Amino acid sequence: MRVNLTLACTECGERNYITKKNKRNNPDRLEIKKYCSRDKKMTVHRETK
Ligand SMILES: [Zn+2]
Repeated sequence: MRVNLTLACTECGERNYITKKNKRNNPDRLEIKKYCSRDKKMTVHRETK
């Protein structure tokens, strides 16, 4: 049930992180605050396909 996904910055669209999640534990779209190297600050990153 673990799927690979990409986390993209919601401000500039840069795909900064690759991670995995358990679809059963986290069926919804992940939104995580992470550091964006393009924006040089913490931004919300959202999973993309
Ligand atoms: Zn960004």
